[in-house]
Amino acid sequence: MLRIILLGPPGTGKGTQAELISKKYGIPHISTGEIFRKAAMEGSKIGIEAKEKYWGKGKLVPDEITVKLVEERLAKKDCKNGFILDGFPRTVKQAEALEKIAKIDFVIDIESRKETIIRRLTSRRQCLKCGKIYGIDMPPKKEGICDVCGGKLFQREDDKIDVVKKRLVEYEEKTKPLINYYKKKGNLFTVNGEQSIDKVFEEICKILNKKNLNT
Ligand code: AMP
Repeated sequence: MLRIILLGPPGTGKGTQAELISKKYGIPHISTGEIFRKAAMEGSKIGIEAKEKYWGKGKLVPDEITVKLVEERLAKKDCKNGFILDGFPRTVKQAEALEKIAKIDFVIDIESRKETIIRRLTSRRQCLKCGKIYGIDMPPKKEGICDVCGGKLFQREDDKIDVVKKRLVEYEEKTKPLINYYKKKGNLFTVNGEQSIDKVFEEICKILNKKNLNT
């Protein structure tokens, strides 16, 4: 069983690392941000409301809505051997609710400085078609075009500088306290997110493998 939470500010590389972990260990990558964006694109009521009132403005979506979505997602069959939560929990209330839903084996906090985060977020682009993410550390071969599927790249509305600043305030106020929360629980590991993607991944794998051998 490999039940992982990736903690850390927006733009620290949680999504990229979650994808790599998912491929290597064969467990699903669950991104609440992606769930919200997909719901908005599909035009569902909850998706549109979440975008207009919350994430489009850099604010967190209320706990009740988010917890329910995650609970439903974790009940799916593909989570039976574990999962990677990327962007959840983001508040102490969500962490408390999660405890009642699932046991967590690893909480990995990927840390980066504010300047790095702002640079990364405002330069981030995503493929409209397949969702692949590009950025300063991983630019596409041809500007504006996805290497994988040839789709057009776009900038997330909430990656524009004004919204990024609000998201960072939300992170400091509501999500950062989770570091202490999980420190007390004893399953928190910290990784320096300013290193290369490969190096961050190597450190994460070391944590996951070492602990697995001990248990
Ligand atoms: P992300 O892609 O993880 O940066 O998430 C994008 C946006 O979705 C966030 O800025 C929030 O508005 C919303 N969101 C994602 N995960 C959560 C969560 N666990 N709790 C509340 N809001 C969330």
